[in-house]
Amino acid sequence: MAKNEKRVKITLACEDCKRRNYITTKNKQNDRERMEIQKYCRWDKKHTLHKETR
Ligand SMILES: [Zn+2]
Repeated sequence: MAKNEKRVKITLACEDCKRRNYITTKNKQNDRERMEIQKYCRWDKKHTLHKETR
């Protein structure tokens, strides 16, 4: 099985409370920009913008 080195692990942090709520992977070649996605934050109890952190 070939290792796929194109996929990188990223953390998604809530923009409102800055908590790191999600860990996911993305394809580095398809996604050169930092990811920004609306996700549910259980601390804010609503959907907020989550941004990729390093
Ligand atoms: Zn939050």
